[in-house]
Amino acid sequence: MKDHRRGMTPDWIITIVAAGALCACAGCERPVEKESTLNWMASARASMEEELVGVHGAAVREAARRGLSQVAAFWRMEDGDEQTFREFVATHFAGTGDVRDELFARSQSLLEQLDGHMLEISRELRMQTDLDRGPIHPFDEIMAAYDPSAHLNEDLFANKFAFAVLLNFPLTTLDQRLEQGAQWTRREWAEVRLAQRFSRRLPAEVNRAIAEAASAADQYIAEYNIWMHHLVDGQGRRLFPAGLRLLSHWNLRDEIKASYNDTTHGPEKQQMIRTVMERIIRQEIPAVVVNNPYVDWNPVTNTVTAAAVSDVPTPPPPSLAVSDRPEPDTRYAMLLKTFEASRQADPYSPTAPTLIARRFNEDREIPEQRVRAMLEEVVSSPMVGRVAALIEERLGRPLEPYDIWYSGFRDGGATLGSELDARVGSRYPDAGAFQREIPSMLLTLGFPAGRTRAIAAHIMVDPARGSGHAWGSAMRSAPARLRTRVGPGGMDYKGFNIAVHELGHNVEQVISLHDVDYTLLQGVPNTAFTEALAFVFQAEDLRLLGLESPDARAGALKTLNDFWQTYEIAGVALLDMAVWHWMYDHPGATPAELKEATIAMARDLWNRYYAPVMKHEDVILLAIYSHMIHSFLYLPDYPIGHLIAHQVKQRMRAAGAIGPEFDRMARIGRVAPDLWMSEATGQPVGAGALLAATEEALHQLGR
Ligand SMILES: [Zn+2]
Repeated sequence: MKDHRRGMTPDWIITIVAAGALCACAGCERPVEKESTLNWMASARASMEEELVGVHGAAVREAARRGLSQVAAFWRMEDGDEQTFREFVATHFAGTGDVRDELFARSQSLLEQLDGHMLEISRELRMQTDLDRGPIHPFDEIMAAYDPSAHLNEDLFANKFAFAVLLNFPLTTLDQRLEQGAQWTRREWAEVRLAQRFSRRLPAEVNRAIAEAASAADQYIAEYNIWMHHLVDGQGRRLFPAGLRLLSHWNLRDEIKASYNDTTHGPEKQQMIRTVMERIIRQEIPAVVVNNPYVDWNPVTNTVTAAAVSDVPTPPPPSLAVSDRPEPDTRYAMLLKTFEASRQADPYSPTAPTLIARRFNEDREIPEQRVRAMLEEVVSSPMVGRVAALIEERLGRPLEPYDIWYSGFRDGGATLGSELDARVGSRYPDAGAFQREIPSMLLTLGFPAGRTRAIAAHIMVDPARGSGHAWGSAMRSAPARLRTRVGPGGMDYKGFNIAVHELGHNVEQVISLHDVDYTLLQGVPNTAFTEALAFVFQAEDLRLLGLESPDARAGALKTLNDFWQTYEIAGVALLDMAVWHWMYDHPGATPAELKEATIAMARDLWNRYYAPVMKHEDVILLAIYSHMIHSFLYLPDYPIGHLIAHQVKQRMRAAGAIGPEFDRMARIGRVAPDLWMSEATGQPVGAGALLAATEEALHQLGR
């Protein structure tokens, strides 16, 4: 479900390092100006301002002052001495006339070519690893991991193209974009995005520190497996099958979800996983248990013994020391490391001097207090109690804390599987068959006949190695790629369902590149938006196969599933936010102190928003997410994504057809999220649509 595109990359490191300028301090209207440490800079700026006014006239004074301050904020010793600075400014200040227009037009087309070709190179380098083309050799992996654009922005500062842009186009704060953005022309928005690209210049060693902390945390999380057959209860029973190895937290949580289908042992398994999660959060888990199939562990008594059974082919290493010594707060040491590395970027981000500000103001472009208000609106909604009562009734027992992962609203669908596989397989024997059907699928979704071929002409379908992904293009001369899984017997239903999701991405990518008025505005505001549009397609998969769409009852259950997931993940996101604030407030904290604080904050959030409906106090499960350790305040993106998806869906339902609305929305381009949403649906980003859909779903089910 990935969407490969510049600025849409799931690799958050890149979004941390590149991005816009804005101010974290409340009420600040202008980008914060960083004092240059060069002693000649202040006087050179003042005299160059007079010189530019002398050459171009008094009308340019404001623009000249702004451009000079923006260049000065990033100019370093290695960029040149005072004479070089003066010559650069005199040469590259474009005034307000035709030359400025030419600079804008050329920047737009050259950056489209640069980004577009870089993306094409990356796509070519990944061909063997992404496509269904036989074995991947180690040398394939080396080139697949190589990013030819990694040093692009550094190079553009070094050759001073970035300075030419900063001298002539405005850096803006989030406040400005939100307060004035609605009045800006499209050209002004494109200028804002152009300058924003060069709003930060991190020294290589800071980038390296962030990448190292990220990679250490990634590795720690990637190897944090629990060998489930080696969990034993008080009677020495093993509830989980041999060989089952679950990654924390994803697989553990999904095992809780899957266990709702196990009517005999489900609750016992779920309770045991809950205990495991709490031992991890509290770091009481014996260190030797992590990723180790050679020890048995009773999570309740927290005792460890050498494994009495073996479910791996190799014998235990001779050095194995069985001990119940707890993990030494490594989880929190990793998180602190990502915080320490992020802080190193603060002085070089004068307009967003904390990671918190960069995440909300630059990456998401929705202020933190608005995000918090939206999430609190969900977790404190009266709908929570009503849905909880329905879950309790369906389960036939009082709720347990792990029921925040209740998955039972998604029933039915699976039984259709085998019939559908046959139908899909005969219709789509290969990737080419899917490609040929795209125009008629778009017609079914209500796109005008004149548009379907034009859009489909820019999409190429390839057989994928994995489950599928959509690789958009960043320049108009290259097609978007739809990668989909095709087995020897053709596509199956699961593959088709994912392919339709990816098709939604591709159609958005094509329209938002080819039909947007400025390529500097190509795309959508952030990944949540492109996912929302892809889900609109995915929900229509049965109709695209010529079958009945799911009935109203199934739709209502799906909405309740979305609501319950959002309720759960909103609390997790609020905890992520609280933890980052705590770290900034306690910069010298030890891992043990961070652990205690995290547990206390998780408990407080639970007691405020979950205990009233779950009827259990002091639960700490919200702290189990691995993203909190290795993803630099990424978690709020998930609940925001659910809210956005429902807003888009609500609008399309009201319009009665997908095609024309999709076409209209995808042309809005990468303006601020609230502006995009207001233009798309008449409302800024918010929880209203999800809550209204939940209310309607409850009504539908006779509640
Ligand atoms: Zn997706």
